[in-house]
Amino acid sequence: MLFRRETGPEAVFPVQRSEAEWRAALSPEAFRVLRQHGTERPGTSPLNAEKRPGIFACAGCGNPLFDAAAKYESGTGWPSFFAPIEGAVGTRTDRSFFMTRTEVHCARCGGHLGHVFPDGPAPTGLRYCMNGVSLAFTPREG
Ligand SMILES: [Zn+2]
Repeated sequence: MLFRRETGPEAVFPVQRSEAEWRAALSPEAFRVLRQHGTERPGTSPLNAEKRPGIFACAGCGNPLFDAAAKYESGTGWPSFFAPIEGAVGTRTDRSFFMTRTEVHCARCGGHLGHVFPDGPAPTGLRYCMNGVSLAFTPREG
C-alpha cells in the first residue's frame, strides 16, 4: 500500500532518547500516549476542531506528519486524516485488547500516534485515527 511501511520490532529510529529524557521533554499525558502506547479520551483534544491550513508534527520530535489538507471530520472524537506525509510514519501490527489493529508511529522517534483503519474517505480509503496529544500543530502563514 502506498503510504504504509511496516516497521519491525527491531527497528532503530533516528531519534533516540532514554525514558528519563522523554519524561522530562513531554507532558505526562503526551508521555503516556507517545512512549507507553496510551490513548487519550475521545473529544478531549483541541486539535479536533482545528481547521486552519498547516502542518501537524510529532509532539515528541517535531517530524512533520500530516498536512491539514488531509484532515477530515471522522466523528470519532480523535483528529483523523486520510493520509500522512509520505515517509513520515511507520506501522506495525498491534494485537492488544483482543483486536488486530495497525498501530501508527512516528518514523523518526518511534512515538506512538494512534492506529490506521480501512474505513476512511477517498482518495485513500484510510482513516489515520490520531491522538491529538501526540501532535503539535503549526498554522501556515498567510
Ligand atoms: Zn517523532
